[in-house]
Amino acid sequence: MKRTRIVEVLTSEKVGTQFMIMGWVRTKRDSKAGLSFLEVNDGSCLSNLQIIADEKLSNYKSEILKLQTGCSIKALGVLSASPGKGQKVELQAEEIAVFGWADPTVYPLQKKRHSFEFLRTIAHLRPRTNTFGAVARLRNAMSNAIHTFFQDRGFIYLHTPIITGSDCEGAGEMFKVTTFDMDQIPKKDGHPDFAMDFFGQPANLTVSGQLEAEIYALAIGDVYTFGPTFRAENSNTSRHLAEFWMVEPEMAFCDIKGDMELAVDFLKYIFSFVLKNCKEDIEFFNRFIDSSVIETLECIISQGFETLTYTEGIEILIKADEKFEFPVNWGVNLQSEHERYLCEKVLKKPIVMVDYPKEIKPFYMKVNKDEKTVRAMDVLVPKIGEIIGGSQREDDYDTLLERIKEMNLNPDDYWWYLELRKFGSVPHAGFGLGFERLIQFVTGLSNIRDVIPFPRTPGNISF
Ligand code: ATP
Ligand code: MN
Repeated sequence: MKRTRIVEVLTSEKVGTQFMIMGWVRTKRDSKAGLSFLEVNDGSCLSNLQIIADEKLSNYKSEILKLQTGCSIKALGVLSASPGKGQKVELQAEEIAVFGWADPTVYPLQKKRHSFEFLRTIAHLRPRTNTFGAVARLRNAMSNAIHTFFQDRGFIYLHTPIITGSDCEGAGEMFKVTTFDMDQIPKKDGHPDFAMDFFGQPANLTVSGQLEAEIYALAIGDVYTFGPTFRAENSNTSRHLAEFWMVEPEMAFCDIKGDMELAVDFLKYIFSFVLKNCKEDIEFFNRFIDSSVIETLECIISQGFETLTYTEGIEILIKADEKFEFPVNWGVNLQSEHERYLCEKVLKKPIVMVDYPKEIKPFYMKVNKDEKTVRAMDVLVPKIGEIIGGSQREDDYDTLLERIKEMNLNPDDYWWYLELRKFGSVPHAGFGLGFERLIQFVTGLSNIRDVIPFPRTPGNISF
């Protein structure tokens, strides 16, 4: 007989039907009447299936009584209405076989609450907990929603390279890729001779697929990327990973307004999608992690976002009756404390902030007529701060060349990027959304290390 996933068994509610399920025992209780109640989970949903094992089963004494949390089993039985509280249906076992035992004296996941810090040290077992199972299902559902959102709008999914010879942000903080023998690096004039390296020049892990996405946007229209990106920033915060997933749409014939609209539509779509399709998991987060997540998501869907210029934001912050760790004046990079203050205390809404000083933004953003600000837009949300960073791109050749020089970058490194402005240039815009920050926002999990299966942070590359 074929295995049925527990989610299907539970939603079918087909009382009287025989099912075969396979999964891991979460808990077991033995009654004096010669019955055992097993709570079994197979990861397909948050809920466990209750299995009733009768002492008449041939292996009742030899095996079933010895089952413990963590053991893996298969069970064949008939679904029946459950007289007990907490579940509608249960499985009356006709046969139970044990795949693998889990010694309770050493199996770390006993039935009690474990701290997230501890669970990070057992990342090979933490997906067997309610929280991490729910995160995994949510990541999956949200990935699906991301593709559906863009595909429904005619965007083409573009695969950009992970190894790159260019630095998108012009900001360093990149991981080097090399095949040099670290003990014998070929040198020229005292420096590593990259001509001898695999690519014949320095290579890095990408920090963004944007520049390549622009190439395709200027050929086939609207594109998006969705893949891993890498930043060697040594910031040990609850919002930064060294390896994270980024969603980067890029639209041709589009200005900053269209870009803002897309960002807002995108977030609303994802939030509606999870409220509708991930009900059980979202309710779990709302109950056990952050009791405001459902209300917050619903509120954003119905009330939307506030739009604010950087200059307006700075004015509010300067007047604010609040001690900030980082002082505020026009021209500074907003810190997450500032972003959160504006969202949580002042506007009580997520914010789309536009028109940032050009000095604090990358060279490729389109300069406004005031020549002081650029057409950048960041989406800021409560509790996290920046979740999306985007802009209209500079599409004028001369201005872009000037900006590259102003930022002390080498125009030769960007020859192809500049040529896009020479041949059939068009206004275009896009943004980058950190997938893990989005999941943090949806789940209420405060540490980004808990929304990715295997977090990479400074000093940590286990699993
Ligand atoms: P921050 O100021 O928070 O470091 P950033 O300005 O460096 O963000 P961008 O370069 O605009 O961010 O990247 C686009 C998006 O990628 C951000 O809005 C954020 O959601 C996400 N992001 C950036 N850096 C990280 C990181 N180290 N870990 C996880 N997500 C990140
Ligand atoms: Mn950053």
